[in-house]
Amino acid sequence: MTKQLDTLHFAPETFECEVKELYTLDEDTLGVVLDRTAFFPMGGGQSGDCGTLGDCYVENVETRDGTILHLVKNCEETVGKLAVGTHLTAKIDRNKRFSDMQQHSGEHILSGVVHRLYGFRNVGFHLSDREVTVDFDGVLSENDICKVEYLVNEAIWDDREVRVFFPTDEEKERLSYRSKKQVDGPLRLVEIAGIDLCACCAPHVRHTGEIGALRVIKSEKNKGGTRLWILCGKRLFADTREKLEQNRQISTMLSAKQNETAVFVQKLKADHAALQYELVGVRRQLLGLQAEAQPVRDVQVAFLDVDAETLRYAAGLFAGRARAFTFVCGEGGNFVLQTDTGFDLQPVMQLLRTHCGARGGGRGNVMQGSVHADKATLQVLLEAAGQKDQ
Ligand SMILES: [Zn+2]
Repeated sequence: MTKQLDTLHFAPETFECEVKELYTLDEDTLGVVLDRTAFFPMGGGQSGDCGTLGDCYVENVETRDGTILHLVKNCEETVGKLAVGTHLTAKIDRNKRFSDMQQHSGEHILSGVVHRLYGFRNVGFHLSDREVTVDFDGVLSENDICKVEYLVNEAIWDDREVRVFFPTDEEKERLSYRSKKQVDGPLRLVEIAGIDLCACCAPHVRHTGEIGALRVIKSEKNKGGTRLWILCGKRLFADTREKLEQNRQISTMLSAKQNETAVFVQKLKADHAALQYELVGVRRQLLGLQAEAQPVRDVQVAFLDVDAETLRYAAGLFAGRARAFTFVCGEGGNFVLQTDTGFDLQPVMQLLRTHCGARGGGRGNVMQGSVHADKATLQVLLEAAGQKDQ
């Protein structure tokens, strides 16, 4: 059984240890069991620590059947360096540990504030390298989230002490604390004075000021409650830097002040919509002229570079210039068959299906579908259909 070293606040960054067992977990991964460890194993929705054993990189740490496994790359070199009985110095990746502690401790304050204000419980927590989510069993509005965010940051800047302790039996009876599940082994409580008291076994910052700041970057309704995406400290700083850079570039492109980019984009969108509207009108006028320029024929065939809606409009125009029917084909091989003279379109559609693999259908004087065939083939086939069935 591996002895777990003190993980109150910061674990020691380095510690001496001995390899007790070495397992091949799969083709790529070895599991190293140590006599003692200060690595935090994956658990409670949080990824494990990274670091080194000697000069072998520890990718993650997890517990399987009560055994703490330090996961390293499976190769000849590591097998040689981590032989059972080897004494070595282990080192925890401080950057990752500190970032995880910031996110995790921030989550405690957030959950404490939400619980105090609204009575909702934290029913799910996920902390990976990519994102941090917290699920509450009640619905939080945008206003609620704003208020919570403000109070959480006030608590962070108060630089309150984060106290970790193992309560006596008397304290266990007396104290009211949050707990996500039944705790096995000794009860470890994490207290942020005046904000939160929660059963938890993970590492935390020593004072809330170390969290820096917390922001809710996204929220969604989730199973009758609310899922919040949060960022704290170093991750928040990196995220903010990236988004500010995006905004800086947008502001330069629009010649807008950095705090006025949204107003400019809104105006740009309105201008774009007005231009689109105008463009549709002009296109329709052009199509009208194009149709009028056609001599009246049995079959009008037109290939147009237009969308589905404009295609239907064009079919109406061209049908007026056809004694039998019109066939107009637009983007992606979409087509409309239309007649203004009661011509039976069913046999035409059948021909297109049989000879050109067309799909589609319809009733009466308008049919729609899609076809992928060359223009000349379609032209010959359609003109023949117009004459044959007159
Ligand atoms: Zn915790």
